Amino acid sequence: MAGGVPCPRQNSCGPDRIDTLKMKKSSSTTPFHIMVKPIGAQCNLRCDYCFYLEKTALYPGMKASDSRMSEDVLEILIRNQIQARAGGQNEVQFVWQGGEPTLMGIPFFKKVVALQRKYAPENVLISNAFQTNGVLVSDEFAHFFHDHQFLVGVSIDGPERLHDRFRRDTSGRGSFKAVMSGIEQLNRHRVEYNLLTVVQSDNSQYPEEVYRFLTGLGSPFIQFIPIVEPAPLTTVSTRSVGSEQWGQFLNQVFHLWRIGDIGRIYIQYFDMLLGLHLGHPASLCVHAPTCGRGLALEHNGDLYSCDHFVDREHFLGNITTKSIVAMVDSPFQRSFGQDKFATLPDLCRNCQFLTFCFGGCPKDRLIATDSGKLNWLCSGYKTFYRETAPYFGAMAAALRKRLPASEYQRFLKQRQ
Ligand code: SF4
Ligand code: SF4
Repeated sequence: MAGGVPCPRQNSCGPDRIDTLKMKKSSSTTPFHIMVKPIGAQCNLRCDYCFYLEKTALYPGMKASDSRMSEDVLEILIRNQIQARAGGQNEVQFVWQGGEPTLMGIPFFKKVVALQRKYAPENVLISNAFQTNGVLVSDEFAHFFHDHQFLVGVSIDGPERLHDRFRRDTSGRGSFKAVMSGIEQLNRHRVEYNLLTVVQSDNSQYPEEVYRFLTGLGSPFIQFIPIVEPAPLTTVSTRSVGSEQWGQFLNQVFHLWRIGDIGRIYIQYFDMLLGLHLGHPASLCVHAPTCGRGLALEHNGDLYSCDHFVDREHFLGNITTKSIVAMVDSPFQRSFGQDKFATLPDLCRNCQFLTFCFGGCPKDRLIATDSGKLNWLCSGYKTFYRETAPYFGAMAAALRKRLPASEYQRFLKQRQ
């Protein structure tokens, strides 16, 4: 246990409590970030594969209207996260997620910005990342994002037919048109945003259609996230992306990208792989040797080990009564992060792609082996690493010669 169970009620400290809860001014030893859920699991959509809606069960009996982050909790969060930044770090990023954070309304985020100004020392740069389904991104919201330089992420699964398959509203209607209207607002206000596409059983079969659609929307930044939902008899649900399908999807997108879009379109997963070929550490926790530096915070201040492990076993404490640093650097959280490597099965330890992969995310390790659990996506990962290694190697060689990655062909020939 991480130290108790989550408080089943919303935290209700008054303003005077903020003053009495003076946290120690200590900073963390290594950088971390916290995904903040200011409206808990409340959402205006009912996407079939959403793993977060069920988190309302952690707070039984709580009304939807009670799951809003109070100004007191918000102030403690902002003040303490700024104080807790790893020694010498001069940037603090706040990550707003859901549920659907736009449901909090613009006044809440105006308060966020005001509190950040109040507590940030002059030499510390504050940034805000905001993940949304896009449905409520109005003219006013887009204006606000632009003025305060929020980096927005919009979830979209492809063209209408593919998007609406799993991303529907509470009445079962597809959300595509509303999302596109939100994207139009972001384009109109020149907000910097990226597109987050969940790769599932359906859209994974149309990599070219999905890629062409996304690259025509107006943002050059794209993230692909595979859906892996555990299921009792079949290992994963029918909505989950097949392992080999994941590899084939990435390979086809990769070739489209390398042929026409290097330097114009940025795909987070490809950037990470290129970085690994250059000898940089993994920029995604999923492919780092250890993890545990990306935590999740519920509306009432309850802190959990990771967005994918918001459950009683991974409850670290509440930020109104415990220091963020003490929780982030606690023995429990450190061992949570180290377990990513410590629990790797022999198949991973002896894998030629270990340093690219490190077994992927523990939440996706669903296949039993004699020495531990193997990642559901393993065969897809191998398909992708095998196919792309010569190209990423050649791009890395070009960059080392201070040439753009798009010059990779020259080095590919040499290597061949
Ligand atoms: S459990 Fe998975 S998502 Fe969470 S920090 Fe570790 S690798 Fe990242
Ligand atoms: S490719 Fe498969 S075997 Fe290799 S490290 Fe990744 S999950 Fe493990």
